Amino acid sequence: MNPERVRLLNSAHAGQGPVLYWMGRDQRVQHNWALLFAADIAKKKGVPLYVLFCIVPDYSVASATQYQFMISGLKEVAHSLRNKGIPFILKYGDAIAEVYRTIKEIEVSTLIMDFDPLRPRTLWKDSLLKKINIPLYEVDAHNIVTCWKASPKAEFGAYTLRPKIQQLLPAFMEPLPELPVFSGISIPDTDWSSIPSQLFSTAISQQQDLPKAGEIAAVSALNDFIENRLPDYQEHRNDPCIEGQSGLSAYLHYGQLSAQYLAQCIQKTDVNPDSKSVFLEELIIRRELSDNFCYYNSNYDNINGLPTWARKSLETHRKDERSFVYTLAEWESCKTHDELWNAAQYQLLQTGKMHGYMRMYWAKKILEWSKSPEHAIKYAIYLNDHYSLDGRDPNGYAGILWSIGGLHDRAWGERAVFGKIRYMNAEGCKRKFDVKKYIARWKK
Ligand code: FAD
Repeated sequence: MNPERVRLLNSAHAGQGPVLYWMGRDQRVQHNWALLFAADIAKKKGVPLYVLFCIVPDYSVASATQYQFMISGLKEVAHSLRNKGIPFILKYGDAIAEVYRTIKEIEVSTLIMDFDPLRPRTLWKDSLLKKINIPLYEVDAHNIVTCWKASPKAEFGAYTLRPKIQQLLPAFMEPLPELPVFSGISIPDTDWSSIPSQLFSTAISQQQDLPKAGEIAAVSALNDFIENRLPDYQEHRNDPCIEGQSGLSAYLHYGQLSAQYLAQCIQKTDVNPDSKSVFLEELIIRRELSDNFCYYNSNYDNINGLPTWARKSLETHRKDERSFVYTLAEWESCKTHDELWNAAQYQLLQTGKMHGYMRMYWAKKILEWSKSPEHAIKYAIYLNDHYSLDGRDPNGYAGILWSIGGLHDRAWGERAVFGKIRYMNAEGCKRKFDVKKYIARWKK
């Protein structure tokens, strides 16, 4: 394993107890570098390995649907770990208190966590470091090229990150080993009863057409994409009337699918090379650029995270008259004058997903018809994080700040409300795809 995937966060001394992997955003057993690293330490020390997951109530506007998708995936994780002789401990409540209690209960000697650049887990990591006196290792099991190795700073855009990633990629695209089997300890059943049923019991009635959760479903969705849509990905991906994208973002977001495994599967295929390279650009460069942004910019979810030129330009146009001004409740319930915008929001409400091209239009119109850029960012983040199955992800914050605030983009011709932020309108959409068909498909 490339040692650059891992960093030791403190200088505590390891005793002889079990190793604990505190699973976070990489919720899978296969192709998980954090789990492989933890297994390697446990094997070398000749001690048991445990995996802990803590479900946190009211986690960052998470919806019942999102909790349900995650919990279904975790049930599969528990089952697969059992087959490997590894106990899965499930906790519900305050993350730090539960991790700390587990460390004491099973007398853990070494703790491993997976890397997540977002605020909640960064704060947990900092608090935990103040409490524990065992080594804590962090492993980037989500990015192909470790986020803090790819670049030491926030990048200007894909064009500045791309050469850095491309240079390091061969050393990180190493073969993904099999997780070893452990033996010798009895594995208690995971206790799911601590999770209150109201956390996810209303989910089914809210959204239909949701994908099946878990690693097995993720791999079959990946195979379906490679077989049926990858050959025409380049041509079809920007047409919201065609399901031409991979549809894998929720699996990637919850870590039910490894981006590296996905990239290696794509590389091995023998299809249209242009489609392959366009897909790998999105999967690797664009996705890892989002992690780079959130890791190095603590204002990743507000106006202060925008480039200076964009903030200045939005400020100049703050008082421009808006042709419509909608409240969050109106946006949320698809009550705008714009049928195309409403259709995109209906698609999100019904399926937990909005087509990638429509996401840009959707966010830009929220800027155009909200009372300020701050309101627009807040509304877009809430709607995306609450309703989108892949929400609460660095890609979401980067995508929203790109659309509303010119992040990773350049200045365009100046116009009302938008200032120098790139503009999009329904006429442009009409030139790209059959707008009437999309509206008809996603009517209430
Ligand atoms: P595919 O086209 O099949 O792409 C494969 C993978 O590449 C995606 O799953 C994703 O991991 C990555 N990718 C593709 N496009 C982008 C992009 N523009 N930026 C970064 N990574 C990309 N993506 C999320 O995962 N979660 C979000 O909450 C999210 N919110 C967004 C909000 C807005 C306003 C915008 C403009 C974009 C947002 N994106 C988000 C990025 C992108 O739209 C989605 O990743 C993509 O549509 C997901 O569908 P897919 O997996 O079928 O994509």
